[in-house]
Amino acid sequence: MGVELRSKEAYLKLLDYVLSHLGKRGSKVGDRLIELKPSIIQESKQTIITNFSHLAELLSRDSEHLARFIFKESGKPGMIEGERLVISGKVSPDEVAKLLQMYFREFVKCPVCEGVDTAIVSEKRFRFITCEVCGAKNPVRKI
Ligand SMILES: [Zn+2]
Repeated sequence: MGVELRSKEAYLKLLDYVLSHLGKRGSKVGDRLIELKPSIIQESKQTIITNFSHLAELLSRDSEHLARFIFKESGKPGMIEGERLVISGKVSPDEVAKLLQMYFREFVKCPVCEGVDTAIVSEKRFRFITCEVCGAKNPVRKI
């Protein structure tokens, strides 16, 4: 039983991973595909995402917000230079993909209907993710 549960969980995780990487989900109203393909240049002491502003645009989020998330979660500082994000230190392409996926799950995808047509709004000291598809409003952390 324990093994069965674990393998099912692993399968679901894998499935979730694959689906989110393909940008494919159910065909709900308001659904659209978001395909994130970061272009990464790795130098000895820097990791540069050359299409960074495009990625932020695909997610309909401020590039500064996405950058803060990446710096915070990777534990590495950096800066935005035009279209690019320059991270001080090495972040592998897999880690970049994982960070983008984490950001997508926390700050873009509606936790109720999984729609991606959402916005982050500020109310007093709080931040919420609001969904244009189902109207849900859920708190998100400030970053
Ligand atoms: Zn929703």
